[in-house]
Amino acid sequence: MKVCIHRGARQIGGTLVEVEAQGARIVLDVGLPLEVSIVAQRDLLPDVAGLWARGDGSLRGVVISHGHPDHSGLADLVDEDVPIYIGEATAAILAEAAFFVPASRPFNATGHLHHRRTFQVGPFAVTPWLVDHSAFDAYAILVEADGRRLLYTGDVRGHGRKPETLTALARAVGAVDVVLMEGTRVAAHGDGRPAMSEQDVEDECAARFVAVAGMALAFYSPQNVDRLVSLYRAARRAGRTFVMDLYAASIAAATGRSTVPQSGWEGVRVYLPRSQRRRVIDAAAYECVEAVRAARVYPQELCARPEDFVMTCRASMLDELERARCLDGAEAVWSMWPGYLERDQGAALGTRLERLDVGLSTVHASGHATPQDLGRFVTALGAERVVPVHTDAPERFGDLFDGVDVQPDARWWPV
Ligand SMILES: [Zn+2]
Repeated sequence: MKVCIHRGARQIGGTLVEVEAQGARIVLDVGLPLEVSIVAQRDLLPDVAGLWARGDGSLRGVVISHGHPDHSGLADLVDEDVPIYIGEATAAILAEAAFFVPASRPFNATGHLHHRRTFQVGPFAVTPWLVDHSAFDAYAILVEADGRRLLYTGDVRGHGRKPETLTALARAVGAVDVVLMEGTRVAAHGDGRPAMSEQDVEDECAARFVAVAGMALAFYSPQNVDRLVSLYRAARRAGRTFVMDLYAASIAAATGRSTVPQSGWEGVRVYLPRSQRRRVIDAAAYECVEAVRAARVYPQELCARPEDFVMTCRASMLDELERARCLDGAEAVWSMWPGYLERDQGAALGTRLERLDVGLSTVHASGHATPQDLGRFVTALGAERVVPVHTDAPERFGDLFDGVDVQPDARWWPV
């Protein structure tokens, strides 16, 4: 078995890895590089035979670790003869998101990944392992062929809502010859910042929600289902009702999990912002509003007792909330990557909130493991070789882990 990292050996995002054994091949992830809006899309397609145009049939499939665009964003361009495998809940979430997020590009999955359920793709035995990441339904992928074992971590962390999965994977997967390991935060090693966990986010948000005089606003990505759960729990601990927008409610329903807050739950209400109402009317998709009808909350009620609510918020909703006079004494929590606030739209939001006299503070946990957690993982795994991927600092791996073998983009190497 041999491997080629086409993209990702020294960058975060845009991951694409090809694996070959016995003349057959599979691809792990087909990621869109981050920050690519100015590049023509065809320039982003690594040269893999039979991936973007019909090939000779030796490319047997694409396995996608999770639904973030930097791993799945080129899937719509994959040749229709090549089967695509992705988590079942991920497929449902992406289908929901396609309705609400105009920029998303839907694709059809051929098969679904299930935790520890091995399936055969040509000579490859492929086993997904559920991992903790900010994307719901994310997997590490074990690939076995020719008596060799390659473990690709995908994106992982040890401080989300199921932190035990990383250690469980290391202990139970058995001996692997190579681990292809993400290192998003390896460059930040030594910056002294402890990792904020999802539990920390919940605790800190609960304290803030208690202290706010008026409505508590929460800016977050509903596709970050761990965060949706943390914010819901924080709202309940603060004695407040958690208000989802229709998008968040639809994503929660798409997870298919009874453990994820749903519109029918006590303490959960659903607000339909104008932009989403317009989308529903344009698409005549009234069934998704019907599904949340009993839980709907309207501006009148929000205005009457704003101190009772934690509101799922986005910049486009501020006009209507201001007009409904919901924002007196309101405070906002920014629960996404803080870097977004420094860009144009984020800065505009900051100015807008300032003008509305709504305070804004960041409470966020990273989707990626600390170098310390990766170190514990590698030690427990006992892998012979560690090849860096999804990192902008592959040369730092050697300072942190044993058995590091740095490989460049676009070179084949044996497992
Ligand atoms: Zn990623």
